Amino acid sequence: MPGFENSYYITSGPYIGVRDTRRIVGLNVLTLEDLQKTTRHDDAVATGCWFLDIHPPEVSVDKPFTGSGFQPKPYDISYRTLIPQKVSNLLVAGRCHSASSEASASSRVTATAIALGEAAGTAAALAMKARTEVGTFDGVKVREALAKQNGGPFSEA
Ligand SMILES: Cc1cc2nc3c(=O)[nH]c(=O)nc-3n(C[C@H](O)[C@H](O)[C@H](O)COP(=O)(O)OP(=O)(O)OC[C@H]3O[C@@H](n4cnc5c(N)ncnc54)[C@H](O)[C@@H]3O)c2cc1C
Repeated sequence: MPGFENSYYITSGPYIGVRDTRRIVGLNVLTLEDLQKTTRHDDAVATGCWFLDIHPPEVSVDKPFTGSGFQPKPYDISYRTLIPQKVSNLLVAGRCHSASSEASASSRVTATAIALGEAAGTAAALAMKARTEVGTFDGVKVREALAKQNGGPFSEA
């Protein structure tokens, strides 16, 4: 390429990044309808607000992504989306929490993943103190603990 005759390759990303991959099926599944209707949950432990960031599944080199997805109002994410149906005493935070493919196109983003991680850590500490399993621990208590430390969720119950 003219002007780059003396350039040379240094490095590039060592791994391919995949946005949409495996997720658990939890006690609650966050769906597109939840985002459209802003479904409220007493046990909300995080707030999502990113638009439906669905990227084209096919190669689209000459067609840049325009990001035309639906923009939800700030919505609740239930503690139960972190609890798998079939494995006990396990919480799954971040982009593999329980959500449909469409809903996770919003809930998987970094800020929301961080909030879900904080919720899972808080829940684990509370459950240990209460000598109970995280899967049966009351999500409303997790919500209250997060609210006390200004960790959200930021929508009304
Ligand atoms: C190409 C691309 C662009 C993106 N752009 C944006 C953006 O602009 N803004 C935005 O908000 N989000 C963006 N995202 C989405 C966002 O980066 C992810 O959804 C988010 O980082 C998910 O966070 P997470 O903690 O759930 O998972 P991850 O960030 O994937 O973290 C999981 C970690 O677990 C580690 N791990 C896996 N298996 C093991 C194991 N067995 N033992 C120990 N460690 C393990 C992994 O190495 C990794 O560090 C993008 C994603 C991709 C792929």
